[in-house]
Amino acid sequence: MFHLFRYADFWGIIAFRFSKVRIQTKNELVARVTNSNRKSFVCNFFVMQHIKKKRFSYFYRMTTDFLNTPIAYLKGVGPQKADLLGKELGIFRFDDLLHHFPFRYVDRTRFHKISELLEADVEVQLVGKIVSFHEVEGKGRKRLSAIFADETGAVELVWFQSIRVMKQVLQANVPYVLFGKPTVFNGKFNFPHPELELLQDFKESGATAFQPVYNSTEKLNNRGLGNRAFAKLTRQLFPHALEHLPENLPAGLMETLKLMGRKEAFLNAHFPKDAATLERAKFRIKFEESFYMQLVMQGAKVYHKKAVRGYPFKKVGPVFNAFYQNNLPFDLTEAQKRVLREIRKDLGSGAQMNRLIQGDVGSGKTIVALLTMLMAVDNGFQSCLMAPTEILAQQHYEGIAALLEGTEIKVGLLTGSTKVAQRRALEAARLSGELHILIGTHALLEPNVTFQNLGLAIIDEQHRFGVKQRAALLEKNTLPPHVMVMTATPIPRTLAMTVYGDLDVSVIDELPPGRKPIKTLHLFESNRLKMFGLLKREVDAGRQAYIVYPLINESEKMDFRDLMEGYTNISRAFPPPRYQLSIVHGQMKPDEKDFEMKRFVQKQTQIMVATTVIEVGVNVPNASVMVIESAERFGLSQLHQLRGRVGRGADASYCILMTGNKLSSEGKTRMETMVRTQDGFEIADVDMRLRGPGDILGTRQSGVMEFKMIDLVRDGQLIGLAREWAIHIIDKDPKLEAPEHLVLRPLFAKMLRERAVFGRVG
Ligand code: ADP
Ligand code: MG
Repeated sequence: MFHLFRYADFWGIIAFRFSKVRIQTKNELVARVTNSNRKSFVCNFFVMQHIKKKRFSYFYRMTTDFLNTPIAYLKGVGPQKADLLGKELGIFRFDDLLHHFPFRYVDRTRFHKISELLEADVEVQLVGKIVSFHEVEGKGRKRLSAIFADETGAVELVWFQSIRVMKQVLQANVPYVLFGKPTVFNGKFNFPHPELELLQDFKESGATAFQPVYNSTEKLNNRGLGNRAFAKLTRQLFPHALEHLPENLPAGLMETLKLMGRKEAFLNAHFPKDAATLERAKFRIKFEESFYMQLVMQGAKVYHKKAVRGYPFKKVGPVFNAFYQNNLPFDLTEAQKRVLREIRKDLGSGAQMNRLIQGDVGSGKTIVALLTMLMAVDNGFQSCLMAPTEILAQQHYEGIAALLEGTEIKVGLLTGSTKVAQRRALEAARLSGELHILIGTHALLEPNVTFQNLGLAIIDEQHRFGVKQRAALLEKNTLPPHVMVMTATPIPRTLAMTVYGDLDVSVIDELPPGRKPIKTLHLFESNRLKMFGLLKREVDAGRQAYIVYPLINESEKMDFRDLMEGYTNISRAFPPPRYQLSIVHGQMKPDEKDFEMKRFVQKQTQIMVATTVIEVGVNVPNASVMVIESAERFGLSQLHQLRGRVGRGADASYCILMTGNKLSSEGKTRMETMVRTQDGFEIADVDMRLRGPGDILGTRQSGVMEFKMIDLVRDGQLIGLAREWAIHIIDKDPKLEAPEHLVLRPLFAKMLRERAVFGRVG
């Protein structure tokens, strides 16, 4: 497989150069070279270089197969429509059209009567005749209006575009099949731009109970490339395409899983024979889709381990052991121990570690990070730990420094607000190797932050950082340091498998002992007194409480007003000197915030009124109440994070979700979910269902999400199955050399090439 990977890089680069000018066939390439102008000079230079090197023949072989033919060459498309297809739907080649699957199917054997029309915006199919049609000069806008009637009534059809063409083709008093969604205008149904087909043609086309419905766009529609056109083009392509859809899954796998053959599956996904066949066809295609993705990820992982060297941490030495025996304040949970063993194995392997540590809030990731950094110390390496906010970096620093008291290990803190003199001292200590562990914020990423010998970089709360940051850390030593990413954002398992499929993932799936479940209540504004009552009871019992307000940039001023108003109300209900309050919000200076946080941490104040700045990571075990104001304005994962701030001590804790009386149905689902469960994964699943996978990950991962048929919300099980098979095959035969695995090679190699271009930094 190694040569494949080499090619992957090479062809990745070439494909990239080409893709900018979209050269896909030899003819196009020749045309490009002969019509050379200044703009394409650079491109031509590369093209010529590679023709000279005779590598082009390989490229040619790879790209001139039938399915790679530019879509312009399909009968009925042509260059202009092809351009639009590419721009609007990413359909550049025949293959892309075959992968443009119907998003649903309609039963074209069912007909409605005009008198049965009840609802607007529901697709119906009618048979009738056009009684008359004429152009109407409305106010400013011309339209073509036709009266369409069956034996039960009549409706109006209207066209605002292509009026001239329609006037020519419409035939009066000939039976048509009409398909479309009615709208209501002046209390009557009418059909704007309906699909019309002569009944005669319709009968000949063999309408089925499963007619495909394809996604199109307004622009394509206007150019005559609507749903029907897609069906027609696809149908026309199939007889030629079928022989170019060779089976690409191993026979053994096909047999065990009883998968449908590839040709049959594609055909039936577009034009299903019946419901059962459609289901099997979809299963097959989805399986193929996720299987290959997993195969590439597993392949890349194996390759990475072989090819990207890292500093081997050969031993667990005296520093680690001494700490473990003398300084560790508690017994590790079994999950923490297991994850440490997994890390240990990576670090000793000689390959560079790339590991994601997932663990729900409060599962104890920090101590795992610290112990890992001690392994680095034992092997003569420095480490850094990067946190997303100042407060969090500070808290990590203080916590870790306290744990290391009495040891020889030197820890430093570097943030945006570190003073110049302190910066200089830190720099000297880093470069001399005297400093073992550096904790900080984004400030760590600056290129002038260099080390004598950085061997390990840990990123806490990964969701705040992008891929770029990870890459920046890799530059800080000759070999890339080991990278460990920790996240508490529960990521649905399906997403973890797809997005982080190429990282090794460890899960701390156990909370430290003695945690009591957090009692979660959802209260409407009208029940505010109940909340005050509970707050008072807890505070009087010596516990502390958070009251959190939303702060969203667009309405910062209003939010700020809400926060201040809330603060005033709370101060009235909890008057000094008996009660002391802290307040932390985004408009305060960092040192003011720190001052307030500290007062709360040191129990000088009982109630912390704050905006979401406390969302991530702060740790005050004595806090037992979390009140979330306007909870409907928070996303599920944020609510879950916030709730995780309490329930860390020995006593029972509470989370109170305050909302207005009117809630959207989504808002209701969020509150119900929070009340029902504390399982981060379950919450993440609901979250994904509500928001869609793209939203959860943000645009930076969107490239990964381009599935043709897989539905990340529903197909979790199938993806898991595909993943198991991919792992199984790569484990057994990493180079895909076994005869039964040869069928995997062409698409595998192609996907690797694409990955080399668009892939993430791993
Ligand atoms: P998170 O995973 O959210 O970052 P932390 O690392 O902040 O969680 O740990 C949360 C709290 O649990 C801390 O007070 C920490 O000291 C404590 N803790 C961690 N591991 C254990 C353990 N094995 N036993 C008892 N307490 C633990
Ligand atoms: Mg943490």
